[in-house]
Amino acid sequence: MKTDFLVVGGGVSGSSLAYLLAKSGFDVTIVEKKPRIGYPHHCSGILGLEAIRELVYFDESWVLSEINWARFISPRGISLEIRKPLAKVVDRELMDRDLWDLATSEGAKGMLSSTFKGLSSSGEAKVGSNVIHFEALIGADGVLSRVAEIVNFDRLPFELGIQRILGGKSEEGYIVRVVRGSKFTWLQPWKGGRKVGALGSPNDDLLSWTYYISDEPARGYEGGLLPARTRKRFHRGRVALIGDAAGQIKPISRGGVLLASRAARILAKSINESENIERAFRKYESVWWKANRREIILGRGIRRYLDSLPPSKIDEIFSTLKEEEYLIEREFKVDKQTAPLSALPIVKILKLATEDIVASASAAAEMIRYMIR
Ligand SMILES: Cc1cc2nc3c(=O)[nH]c(=O)nc-3n(C[C@H](O)[C@H](O)[C@H](O)COP(=O)(O)OP(=O)(O)OC[C@H]3O[C@@H](n4cnc5c(N)ncnc54)[C@H](O)[C@@H]3O)c2cc1C
Repeated sequence: MKTDFLVVGGGVSGSSLAYLLAKSGFDVTIVEKKPRIGYPHHCSGILGLEAIRELVYFDESWVLSEINWARFISPRGISLEIRKPLAKVVDRELMDRDLWDLATSEGAKGMLSSTFKGLSSSGEAKVGSNVIHFEALIGADGVLSRVAEIVNFDRLPFELGIQRILGGKSEEGYIVRVVRGSKFTWLQPWKGGRKVGALGSPNDDLLSWTYYISDEPARGYEGGLLPARTRKRFHRGRVALIGDAAGQIKPISRGGVLLASRAARILAKSINESENIERAFRKYESVWWKANRREIILGRGIRRYLDSLPPSKIDEIFSTLKEEEYLIEREFKVDKQTAPLSALPIVKILKLATEDIVASASAAAEMIRYMIR
């Protein structure tokens, strides 16, 4: 079997890219190891309004709820509230399925229950019992990417997100409670009821954290892995990575759909505009970083800063921000989480940054590490 573009993974990043390439007339094959797209799902499905605009396709029927307010609570209970339209909660199973169908209806060859295993000695892809000859290989196969492994990229460090499905009355808002550093638990609307989740490292007692926010009994459980950082490089030779495989997540909330959709658009455009594949991949990496550098570098710094602080200091940060609550409400965007920082008075920024000098130094070091590419 032969194809120009072999896309591994039928999640949001793989299907979005396969759709855009097939629509431009390229010969595309997309392989997915699961027998059913989008299932089992793990994502909370909270998409900021900008993320929705950047999806390669959006259908109102995916929307389960609007998010019109948010409450952020510090470890000891100081809360900041934002009241304005912020996001929508979408059904990720439906969304991933529609994106896959869109790609295959544009002519991409879709293969379910087909696991990419590696490369043969002559450089062809081994997918299930098939051998596929390709011109370019795209790893859209999530945080534990096999494609990344075969081109000798490091294994990405990961975090874990777990969720308990609850009943009860859903509201059009979400609550985030900081547990430790940048790790948190949250409550959100979900299919006429609610979900409570927790995000942290695999050694954290995440299930017990979810009880900090609601002790209602669960009707079901979900969970999944998230990349703990963004890769600096997304390509090597004829192989490129996209979405979670490239660690393309927002550093603070860890949401990945916006950056994966943006990557699919940039990669498809670079392929369309470049005369050879390696030039296209180089362009993709540089344009993606140009579009996201500020948010990733600043977000990484904020996350490292929070991770270096004890809970009492995070309470103090919340107290300082509480004095600027109206400003935070005005500037905050789900898709641009560092935005309020640029609007804060300089004395407040200095106060926040000098809360803990060791933590500030560690945040600065993290940001420098990301600036050196
Ligand atoms: C608990 C939780 C909550 C989240 N909430 C949000 C949120 O509210 N908003 C948001 O924006 N993001 C959220 N995310 C992150 C978001 O789900 C991901 O960033 C996004 O789904 C990444 O899409 P992807 O296509 O890159 O990877 P994935 O969705 O992981 O898709 C990869 C696909 O590749 C397939 N695959 C893997 N290996 C192979 C192989 N060898 N051969 C063939 N196929 C393979 C997998 O089966 C999978 O279908 C959340 C994540 C978790 C875990």
